[in-house]
Amino acid sequence: MTIHCNYIGGEWREGQGTIANINPSDTNDRIGEYAEASPAQLDEAVAAARQAFPAWSRSGIQSRSELLDRIGQMILDRRAQLGELLAREEGKTLPEATGEVVRAGQIFRFFSGEILQLRGELQPSVRPGLEVSVTREALGVIGLITPWNFPIAIPAWKIAPALAYGNCVVFKPAELVPGSAHALAQIIAEAGVPDGVFNLVMGPGRVIGDALVNHPQVDAISFTGSQNTGRRIAAVAAARLAKVQLEMGGKNPLVVLDDADLDTAVECAVNGAFFSTGQRCTASSRLIVTSGIHDRFVEAVCERMKALVTDHALKAGTHIGPVVDERQLKQDLDYIDIGRGEGATLVCGGERVERETPGFYLTPALFTGTEPQMRINREEIFGPVATVIRADDYEQALALANDTEFGLSAGIVTRSLKHASHFKANAQAGMVMVNVPTAGVDYHVPFGGRKGSSYGAREQGSYAREFYTTVKTAYTLA
Ligand code: ADP
Repeated sequence: MTIHCNYIGGEWREGQGTIANINPSDTNDRIGEYAEASPAQLDEAVAAARQAFPAWSRSGIQSRSELLDRIGQMILDRRAQLGELLAREEGKTLPEATGEVVRAGQIFRFFSGEILQLRGELQPSVRPGLEVSVTREALGVIGLITPWNFPIAIPAWKIAPALAYGNCVVFKPAELVPGSAHALAQIIAEAGVPDGVFNLVMGPGRVIGDALVNHPQVDAISFTGSQNTGRRIAAVAAARLAKVQLEMGGKNPLVVLDDADLDTAVECAVNGAFFSTGQRCTASSRLIVTSGIHDRFVEAVCERMKALVTDHALKAGTHIGPVVDERQLKQDLDYIDIGRGEGATLVCGGERVERETPGFYLTPALFTGTEPQMRINREEIFGPVATVIRADDYEQALALANDTEFGLSAGIVTRSLKHASHFKANAQAGMVMVNVPTAGVDYHVPFGGRKGSSYGAREQGSYAREFYTTVKTAYTLA
């Protein structure tokens, strides 16, 4: 049996045990065994990163740019193979998975160019004869903790800027998707990253993740995952004054107004709520629909949902892959029961179904007649489950959209420029979408939210430098 190893200080190392990688489309398909790092190995990875940092941070932008470009190109060259692995371990469809791989490649190539754009400022001093410069430097050793829903794109959008700006990395991926993380580590190693600059440590969050967050030699933590874990990480990081960045959940609203183009509204809703099996933090989980279009909209969405094929992620023609694992499936089904118990009407889907292979198949679910205070409208479900909330008019729809502890993405479908502009200005979210789904973003602009969704600096695009660098102000007497 081959064990896929951790990558520590430039060496591939077995661990203290193994993590099994199971295909959620077919639980008989064991994708592979992955080494579970021991806490001592985590210490070694951090020590290796620490040791590599001085040389790496001074290595110069040309070589770092070239390394990132090579990594990006290798990811793109292997898109078919990586896409298949990703679809197999996470359960999103093959086209979705391949698209995610391409995105990861594009992100590395973006930061390959972005590092060449790093600028400082030179200012006159308020004191005669002095000159002041403001420059950015690498932070040090950065711990990266990622979730299972985007097994290669999220690691890419953390690893690429971390390395570009001259930091060393200890990367702890989610236990459910070690395959993509390992494949990415192999590419980074093959591309010629110096020993210790990039380290992969696989293992449980509460052990390896927790040790990484607590490690006194780790200068910063970038985390994407659940709100509960994020809060815990922020508290630990704050106690030891480590820089921290958190991307957590969403309960994203999609507002549909009476004047919306119905086809656009349906497409935004179905794509935003159910594609990638609804397992996106930017998924539209609350469809807030004004009365004049409500019934037509619900009918058209149901019609479209009935045409969606829920099946094996690798099968041609599948629109909705399985839920990622048994625990998440139970959570989705529990929320469907909770919704029914709260008096909402399940108008479509929400059934566990059997396919040729044993997997976690759930048909996309739509609730109508829901009230804003229901748990299905307040708590993140993280599955193919959406609710419809009826609103009297735009003003009420906006208030409902903002009535949430989250604030990642918010969408509106309308033909009114007035309402679109007002919504862009007044939606309490980090990202606003007009006539496009709440999920699906560009890679060269900031990604992140407000309120309970995010904490710390934005990710992606040039804004990533806020987190991955530290500022130095220098005074020179000429
Ligand atoms: P989910 O419920 O979707 O798995 P989590 O927030 O638990 O979301 O997981 C996101 C990432 O955080 C994973 O890599 C997981 O292993 C890690 N993690 C979980 N618990 C902790 C913890 N206590 N400290 C650090 N990392 C953790």
